[in-house]
Amino acid sequence: MSLIATAEDVAVPRLAAEESVHRIELRAVAKVFDGGDTDPVQAVAPTDFTVASGEFVSIVGPSGCGKSTVLNMVAGLFDPTAGEIRINGTAVSDRRSFCAYMFQRDLLLPWRTIRDNVALGIEILGTPKGVARSKAEVLLRRFGLGAFVDKRPAQLSGGMRQRAALMRTLLCPREILLLDEPFGALDALTRANMQEWLLEVWEQDHRTVLFITHDVEEALFLSDRVLVMSARPGSIKLEVPVRVPRPRSRKVTTSESFNKLKEKVLESIHDESVKAMSET
Ligand code: ADP
Ligand code: MG
Repeated sequence: MSLIATAEDVAVPRLAAEESVHRIELRAVAKVFDGGDTDPVQAVAPTDFTVASGEFVSIVGPSGCGKSTVLNMVAGLFDPTAGEIRINGTAVSDRRSFCAYMFQRDLLLPWRTIRDNVALGIEILGTPKGVARSKAEVLLRRFGLGAFVDKRPAQLSGGMRQRAALMRTLLCPREILLLDEPFGALDALTRANMQEWLLEVWEQDHRTVLFITHDVEEALFLSDRVLVMSARPGSIKLEVPVRVPRPRSRKVTTSESFNKLKEKVLESIHDESVKAMSET
């Protein structure tokens, strides 16, 4: 089951090699939210990390530590209070044009059909409506939502809606994928299927991925590197390379070395969660 078909109906655009060099660098990036009537909130402490071109990196950390804030800044939704975000060595303010972004909530438009929701991303980028819709439909049919193309989001389960939102994101021909807990609302089985599907898609074009999750096993299974964020104000406190050969099968998650990594990351997050609890 490959997303990139051999036929002409290629659903997710394969990026040309020369276009696909996209490295993300954060240098001393920090964020303070203006509290309005209350005190300002420092969400992110000065943070440095790099995601190499074509690398799959996950961020894990306790709830409220600033993960979504980091992703929002990389996406260019707002700027850091301090520091710099570089794409391929250049500090670009228009980062949105490099990034396909999936928000923590699925954000499907309730009045649009599922087909039209999945088509929306590329439609906004200028793909003619009819073409966008048929690409969306091919993708939906291939990945188990063929019976729902004419339904509205409210008629689908939470898991199906998340799947549709992820399809919309993947369909965007952007070199950087930013995914904020895309499988958060899924049951364990659907979640495992979606992880394998995402890896399959990613193996096709090796886009640069920054992935947020609170599921440590998911992070390790998917990633080349896992970054652990400290309690708020968050910064990267631990970096764990995952040297498991690809393509990966689910079996790797039961190996001793995988479980050692898992323990190390869990311990690190646990320490941070305890800190976060004692501060609130
Ligand atoms: P995470 O994704 O790790 O759960 P967030 O990045 O969503 O954490 O939030 C980090 C901190 O910043 C939290 O304390 C949150 O309340 C605060 N925060 C997030 N967005 C805003 C905002 N727009 N205005 C004010 N505070 C915010
Ligand atoms: Mg979040």
